[in-house]
Amino acid sequence: VRDLVVVLGDQLDAASAVFDDFDPARDAVWMAEVAHEATQVWSTKARIAMFLTAMRHFRDALLARGFRVEYRALDAHDHASLEDALAADLARLKPTRVLAVKPGEWRLAQSLPQVCRAAGVDWVERQDLHFYATPEDFAEWAKGRKELRLEFFYRWLRKREDVLMDDGQPVGGRWNFDSENRETFGKKGPGRLPAPRAFGIDATTRAVVDLVNARFAEHPGRLDAFDWPLTAAQAEDALQDFIDHRLPLFGRYQDAIWAGEPWLYHSRLSAAMNLKLLSPRRAVDAALAAWREGRAPIEAVEGFVRQILGWREYVRGVYWLRMPGFLDDNALGADQPLPALFWTGETRMACMRDALRQTLDLGYAHHIQRLMVTGLFALLLGVRPREIHAWYLAVYVDAVEWVELPNVLGMSQYADGGRMVSKPYAASGKYIQRMSNHCAGCPFDPAEPLGPKACPFTTLYWDFLDRHAARFRDHPRAGMQWRNLDRLAPERLDAIRARAAALRRALAETATIPPSDP
Ligand code: FAD
Ligand code: SF4
Repeated sequence: VRDLVVVLGDQLDAASAVFDDFDPARDAVWMAEVAHEATQVWSTKARIAMFLTAMRHFRDALLARGFRVEYRALDAHDHASLEDALAADLARLKPTRVLAVKPGEWRLAQSLPQVCRAAGVDWVERQDLHFYATPEDFAEWAKGRKELRLEFFYRWLRKREDVLMDDGQPVGGRWNFDSENRETFGKKGPGRLPAPRAFGIDATTRAVVDLVNARFAEHPGRLDAFDWPLTAAQAEDALQDFIDHRLPLFGRYQDAIWAGEPWLYHSRLSAAMNLKLLSPRRAVDAALAAWREGRAPIEAVEGFVRQILGWREYVRGVYWLRMPGFLDDNALGADQPLPALFWTGETRMACMRDALRQTLDLGYAHHIQRLMVTGLFALLLGVRPREIHAWYLAVYVDAVEWVELPNVLGMSQYADGGRMVSKPYAASGKYIQRMSNHCAGCPFDPAEPLGPKACPFTTLYWDFLDRHAARFRDHPRAGMQWRNLDRLAPERLDAIRARAAALRRALAETATIPPSDP
């Protein structure tokens, strides 16, 4: 073998620069399924199945192009790690060099080149063409900035890429339409929602589903409803389906939650994009075309562009800028273990139960569920950042560390001390009451921090304000929220402290470390 082209599970990009000068007569693609990647965090069955099915379909597409693929299927080898599997194949195939794009996870970006060095083979990295901005672009933009605010990065990249710009100005005269993107479904609810395109299960997917059910039987979740775009063609279909049926209302209901409705007007494209079956440029261009043709309003299209060209590129930049130290961030000194309910979904809190069950069963929750339900609960409770990070990395079909870690540690847990967001996303149960219909069907009352119907979010919210008062009371953006503490009578605050401490103790007692590799 001349070039051995390494393709990882989140690099399934047929247009990748690693294939530019691929010579089927002399080169081979190397792909490997390794159990450790599913067990180092206790992945849901849906997440494991997502990666394995997409990899196998990609392998088949490469074979159909006439490529030689050295594919290590999970059940056909017993290497403990990706590094071991690669080392063994370097010895067997003796390539002149290894070609790859930079792995999406810091750990593998260090260890795989190391394996090659140890084998005396060159590791050659090609630029990752999937993204709009490189980590170097981001580092350049970030130079000299103490705070890395999305808004400024987004404006910079929109100008550079000439997206939604009109003669140097943002179209519609505004950079963002956030204020139009916060509607709820009111009392009537969302009505009939457009069901997302279904793809069904072909023989390749069936084999993986059976394999995951057998080999990872102990892992959380189920695969009965497993239905995701798993090839580039299916990802394109899923994009079209979103543009035609859900984009027009995407912006308006971006922040809304409704019990038993996991998809609402969301695109469900994150996994396809993160595995690189779908290019973000293609997704953005399709939304822009819909706007130009009058098929979607500006607030929906700008909202969608902001998520992809803005947030998605921004978190990747932050990840590479901050790793590996990012993993140790814990600015708020959070020290609670992750309660068992995150792994079981068993709780009387209606909002948490809905978000957790759908997360475990489907490998999906939309952004506001992740940020303002599960994330908020962990923030208020004070869960150790490393534990909540490991949970988020394990449960979602779209979970890849470069996008998961900044969202969890930076955005939702404020563990980075405010480098990403100007103040913690702290709220009481009343926020969830406003954005959803959950509280009406819950034994707790979101207005009550105390008493038999006290909402755990609300108790923990006041306790959170109290515990972090010294830090935020005079904070320019958060101070006003914190000064609400002054409205509480001292005896009431004492009672809240006691109740929060009891809640924290009770939840800590439930914590079990899920079985995972050491
Ligand atoms: P839509 O709501 O339809 O949004 C469109 C696209 O925008 C998404 O597909 C995604 O690619 C992008 N996007 C939206 N918000 C973000 C964001 N904050 N950061 C990066 N991209 C964004 N996203 C992941 O892809 N993987 C993760 O592991 C992940 N973990 C998260 C953890 C927490 C605590 C939070 C608050 C957010 C996380 N997100 C993650 C971001 C976001 O929640 C998901 O991208 C989104 O819910 C995926 O569903 P969708 O494709 O239907 O998105
Ligand atoms: Fe969630 Fe509290 Fe509302 Fe129950 S009352 S659904 S726990 S916010």
